[in-house]
Amino acid sequence: MLLNEPHPLEVRVLTRRYVYPQAEPIGLDQYVAEEGYDGLRKALAMEPDAIIDEVKKSSLRGRGGAGFPTGMKWSFVDRKSLKPKYIVVNADEGEPGTCKDRVIMENEPHRLIEGCLIAGRAIGSNRGWIYIRGEYRQYIECMDRAIEAAYARGYLGDNVLGSGWAFHLSTHSGAGSYECGEETALLESLEGKRGNPRLKPPFPAVSGAFQCPTVVNNVETYAAVPDIILKGGEWYAGLGTPRNGGTRLVCLSGHLNRPGVYEVPLGMNLLTMVNEIGGGVWKGRKLKAIIPGGSSSPVLRAEECDIPADYDSFAKAGTMLGSGATVVLDETTDMVKVLSRLMKFYAHESCGWCIPCREGTAWLKTIMARLDAGVGTTNDIDMVDQLAQGMLGRTFCPLGDAAAMPATAIVRKFRDEFEAKIASSQVFLPAPNTQPLVVL
Ligand code: SF4
Repeated sequence: MLLNEPHPLEVRVLTRRYVYPQAEPIGLDQYVAEEGYDGLRKALAMEPDAIIDEVKKSSLRGRGGAGFPTGMKWSFVDRKSLKPKYIVVNADEGEPGTCKDRVIMENEPHRLIEGCLIAGRAIGSNRGWIYIRGEYRQYIECMDRAIEAAYARGYLGDNVLGSGWAFHLSTHSGAGSYECGEETALLESLEGKRGNPRLKPPFPAVSGAFQCPTVVNNVETYAAVPDIILKGGEWYAGLGTPRNGGTRLVCLSGHLNRPGVYEVPLGMNLLTMVNEIGGGVWKGRKLKAIIPGGSSSPVLRAEECDIPADYDSFAKAGTMLGSGATVVLDETTDMVKVLSRLMKFYAHESCGWCIPCREGTAWLKTIMARLDAGVGTTNDIDMVDQLAQGMLGRTFCPLGDAAAMPATAIVRKFRDEFEAKIASSQVFLPAPNTQPLVVL
């Protein structure tokens, strides 16, 4: 169980039913006894537009990374279309440092099912899939058991709670590709094809799964919906800051005293989150930097971290809230090594579809390995920055940007460390009649 003991500064909405330690998932009986599926009952009595309006009022934004307003996304679906409409849950959760969606699936699977049902009702859908990364085998099984229980009690099926409306839901296992966290690549994979992204537009709300209108949202986004419908959009919005409604799960990791998953209101100060909830930097060391929203988010130096943790404040600081993965780096961290490791990851995960990403990530990995091994040059530092700049905004899907953004940020903010590593490294000159040393 990754969810820690509650901290007084947490605001628990999604996680309010959890006890610590939570030994078993919250079952259907307990869920129903504690207001579970009451949001669905209320939604069944509402007009679809009223459901969407409530979600719009809540200022709920996508918790997967992009932060797009959820109610607006749902309103893009043409309910009058003669095609089937679909609900898809993005449970791929591949961003390094992110481990929050599995907390929801593991501890309270019915919350996710209820969120899917309400979203399905809002857009006129009768079918949904939960696309879960293949490595999450135990969470797939957990969701499958909960779905089976929901079918048995009439929450899913041809006649949801006697309303005459049908909604069917099942899990679908991914194969462990980071790229399939991108919504169109996920849809390709769901359709049984190679997980390459699609050109947008059209966006999934217009043409998604099997060329039908589809809403794709993250696990945490759907999980927030039952309480929004039950208690009202304004109540939820009031928990956060303007345009950044509600609470969110943050995954605090790295050099911390109390790493774990916590639920905090949007807008909580980032340093408060790290120092109070996360227990501060470990071993009495100083903070060097924070990667604030998963490995693709541009790093913040310690002096830049005194800001509210919400979408708009992070964007103003030149970074992003992303998937909620907050990685704390202490003063001893080798930033050259950090970037080298990240570039190795992105080169491995690039699907190879478009040249700027395929070539760019491979070269970034190669050059960073050279710099990390102490055989790079100052030209290499500039080349990393130029390569990353050349990729930004020029790739087919966001993975290219995801690799380029941390590269640019780390090279520019910690250039002194790169230069120091070059200066301090022992230089091995090639002996006569031997090949130049090449580090790949
Ligand atoms: Fe594939 Fe990378 Fe291009 Fe995305 S940006 S399509 S992951 S090669």
